[in-house]
Amino acid sequence: MKAIVNFSAGKGNVELQDVPIPKIGPNDVLMEVKAVGVCGSDLHMYHDSQGFEVKRPVILGHEFSGVVADVGKDVKNIKIGDRVVSETPSYVCETCIYCRTGEYNLCPERKGFGVLEDGAMAQYVKTRESIIHRIPSDVSYEKAALTEPACVAYNAVAYHSEIKPGDHVVIFGPGPIGLMCVQIAKLYSPASLTVVGIEADMNRLKLAKDFGADHIINASKQNVVQEIMQLGDGFGPNLVLDAVGNSTTLRQSIEVVRPGGQITKIGWGPAPVGFSLDPLIQKAARLQGSFSHNYPMWEKVLLLMEQGKIDPLPMAKVYPIEDWEDAFKEMDSLSQAKSIILPNS
Ligand SMILES: [Zn+2]
Ligand SMILES: [Zn+2]
Repeated sequence: MKAIVNFSAGKGNVELQDVPIPKIGPNDVLMEVKAVGVCGSDLHMYHDSQGFEVKRPVILGHEFSGVVADVGKDVKNIKIGDRVVSETPSYVCETCIYCRTGEYNLCPERKGFGVLEDGAMAQYVKTRESIIHRIPSDVSYEKAALTEPACVAYNAVAYHSEIKPGDHVVIFGPGPIGLMCVQIAKLYSPASLTVVGIEADMNRLKLAKDFGADHIINASKQNVVQEIMQLGDGFGPNLVLDAVGNSTTLRQSIEVVRPGGQITKIGWGPAPVGFSLDPLIQKAARLQGSFSHNYPMWEKVLLLMEQGKIDPLPMAKVYPIEDWEDAFKEMDSLSQAKSIILPNS
């Protein structure tokens, strides 16, 4: 089968290869991949700039949808021909307290597709019955492939943030996660929703407006803190969602957050932050991390997509697998927010 393989450490060490179709165990499901999203983490692995542990060679890709091609002998609820999406943990221990309580995204043994085990930028991928969800009939494979980034945003906003109708909300970073945070935050009827990006983000900031943002701020030209403090009652946002991987935006988040407000940090990077957290403490504001997602969030997000209440597809452009390099480079250049690869077109 065709697969996009990150074959060794070093910059640009990714190529389209012909590899064997994965063999499945008793509880596994073999999916014929219909659509797979390119994630920022795939691009980091392409550039060898990731801040997390990886295993190479590895097939990239963890945002995917497809049709069930085969099932292991102990698989009960999924059958060949089902239209499905799969969550991203290719392995969890199933015995730790997090696994036993459904928070397996926090399992210390968690392995992710496309990072520590083979992912879905391939014609077929092996996954597990316990992390499969059926796609509603009127949700396309392309849209369903973006359930994953939508769930990252859903977890950050709906589970890890306190948000109420009428709140003043600011989102740093109009990448795919920030854009999906716009759509999820809109479901709470904020009084004002502002998205902050830089000059290179202009296409994505326009999308943020299409997705419902009231204001956009171009940090390359405008004074971010001043602009934000002019909005609302002048005390700053109730909620800041930081979907950027460097510390500049965390510093600005702490500067603008309302006393008693909250910052939810989704973007991450290995560099130390290098500034004082004193203003956070003085404001009695909360800094909350958010990572990945789990089963009930996937069910909710699929339902919201079925009802048309969220729709990630307008941020994406679609490519056949042979054009994977364009898919990577055009997303990398920020000309669009998201690339989707079709491995079997
Ligand atoms: Zn991702
Ligand atoms: Zn576990």
